[in-house]
Amino acid sequence: MSATYRDALRAALLYLVLAVLWVSLSGFALNSFFDDSAEALHWQTINGYIWLLLSAGIIFIARTRLFRCLGIGAQLAERSADRERLRQAAAVFDCTREGVLVTNEKGLIVHVNRAFMQITGYQREEVMGQQPSLFKSGRHPASFYQAMFKTLNSVGEWSGEIWNRRKSGEIYPQWQTIRIVRDDDGRVSQYVAVFSDISAIKNSENVLTHLAHHDPLTDLPNRLLFTDRAEQALASAQTHKRGCALLMLDLDHFKMINDSLGHNVGDRLLKAVAARLQALFGPGITLARLGGDEFAVLSESCPQPGQAAALAQRIIDALKEPFGIDGHELFINASIGISLFPSDALSAEQLLRNADAALFKAKSSGRNGYALYTEELTAHAQQRVEIAFELRRALEQQELRVYYQPVHDLKTSRLIGVEALVRWQHPQRGLVSPAEFIPIAERTGLIAEIDAWVMQQACLQMCRWQQAGVVLSFVAVNVSSRLFARRELYQQVAQVLRDTGLDPAYLELEVTESAVMDDPEVALEQMHRLRELGIRLAIDDFGTGYSSLLRLKRLPVQKLKIDQGFVAGLPGDEDDAAIVRVIIALAQSMGMQVHAEGIEQVEQASFLLEHDCDLGQGYWFARPMPAAQLDWARAPHIG
Ligand code: C2E
Ligand code: MG
Ligand code: MG
Repeated sequence: MSATYRDALRAALLYLVLAVLWVSLSGFALNSFFDDSAEALHWQTINGYIWLLLSAGIIFIARTRLFRCLGIGAQLAERSADRERLRQAAAVFDCTREGVLVTNEKGLIVHVNRAFMQITGYQREEVMGQQPSLFKSGRHPASFYQAMFKTLNSVGEWSGEIWNRRKSGEIYPQWQTIRIVRDDDGRVSQYVAVFSDISAIKNSENVLTHLAHHDPLTDLPNRLLFTDRAEQALASAQTHKRGCALLMLDLDHFKMINDSLGHNVGDRLLKAVAARLQALFGPGITLARLGGDEFAVLSESCPQPGQAAALAQRIIDALKEPFGIDGHELFINASIGISLFPSDALSAEQLLRNADAALFKAKSSGRNGYALYTEELTAHAQQRVEIAFELRRALEQQELRVYYQPVHDLKTSRLIGVEALVRWQHPQRGLVSPAEFIPIAERTGLIAEIDAWVMQQACLQMCRWQQAGVVLSFVAVNVSSRLFARRELYQQVAQVLRDTGLDPAYLELEVTESAVMDDPEVALEQMHRLRELGIRLAIDDFGTGYSSLLRLKRLPVQKLKIDQGFVAGLPGDEDDAAIVRVIIALAQSMGMQVHAEGIEQVEQASFLLEHDCDLGQGYWFARPMPAAQLDWARAPHIG
């Protein structure tokens, strides 16, 4: 017999006993009722109360026992706990920030919460009895929903990102979890979908992706995105047998603008350049900023080198108009290197490298122009690597030589100083010009050793001349811009002076104008320290480096050397003549000596003499030569 039956039997028995007791007591009470003596009346009242109490007690106990036996009490307790749970669920359901949607087994909406209405913009009445397909964005293919229901039916739950449409028509991303609710028999009774609006997260994700792929100043694609697009364009060009062109563009002398007008103006100029170029291109052309003043252009359809060259020329022409920034009218030129797919390179990386090599060529052949990449450039690059390797050997094997070129006083024609110029006595190639190996030495760092060696040789030679009774005012030595920016230069010069014993007053250091103006503050400090050693300072190739007159005035320099490019045009070229006159006047006004180099004709020397230039150097006087060949008596007569 089961425990429930036993309990029921026990309850029934108890109920029976109690009922018998109740009946007998009721009988006793009724008997007393018909007896109307005073004592009987007293008992009648007491019995009435007892009967009443007992009846209530019996009913209560019996009911409790019976209910417990039938399990109704537990059900009631359970029901009240359920009610409590439902109240809690309803509160959560309504307060939660996630939208909740419940459908019946047929997929018709039977319930939505407050967040649902806030997110979707629909009111409860508008969606009741409708299908959730009402919210479809149209962004997912049918296969997406098929896969979703497949997972839902097999696992009972699906979670994922889904794009839906608000009542306003706007589509937005949701993170949604859908779950199947089954009844006791395992049949689907409801579908519950809980979702959150992730458009804010998506937006910030998009912002982050944008930042990672764009240059913050100009909002143009950065190197990463550009390379990626170039790879894609090349893949597509390969399939469609199309040609592409990659142009690398560098603004000429942009640093000068930054230095003289400040980074704010520089930044605004870069933005203006980006905007002007962007307006120039239609679809199929991507413009990117690779960094600093370097931009890149990818033309996805450019079959001929001529078309790429025309594009480069359009860019150069577009930049000719001045830019008005902060009340300044700024002129800026660009140099462009072009590399073509598939003739020059097959990968984006190689195209970029080749365009860079072509850009280097464009810059070194005078700027404000473009150059196409050629095989020759690779050959040159290889040659540079070889020269760098050989230069090391040249230093060890003492293949370098110092030549001296006389400098004359233009008024007296007297030889008053020399400039030391390095040469490389190559075992196979003969005498190699510094123009060929100095730039390579600068890039490989060998320049420090070369300049130190030349300075040592020049000072030793000057001491020898002095001992031999030759009267010279100075020996000039060139210092590379790479070395000039370094603090060690001061120690190096001091060391050479100590080692050779030369009086510092006879040593002149030539620094190019661009080296000084690249970082004028460092240059100023360096020059003051060098001056403390007692040596003389000259600015070489003056007129080519965009000097700021204000800065020039502050420099402790004793001499300006007019660049030979201006001397070459004398006396016929009016522009050159005007520039030379201005430089002479400038040097004089600042109390500096002025020295013209590259004098090849007597007319040039006469013009310079007429305009009060102090010193002259050039093939017309003498070429650079070994120390032993110098002719001290030579004083060519001007005019
Ligand atoms: P620079 O210092 O401006 O030297 C003047 C250059 O002009 C020399 O070329 C010289 O030979 C050349 N020159 C002199 N007179 C005439 C002339 O009448 N007509 C023409 N067309 N050219 C003339 P070089 O010796 O080939 O030197 C070229 C450059 O290489 C130098 O220009 C200088 O910047 C650099 N350099 C030479 N030696 C050294 C050195 O020891 N160290 C460093 N860092 N640079 C050096
Ligand atoms: Mg020089
Ligand atoms: Mg020079």
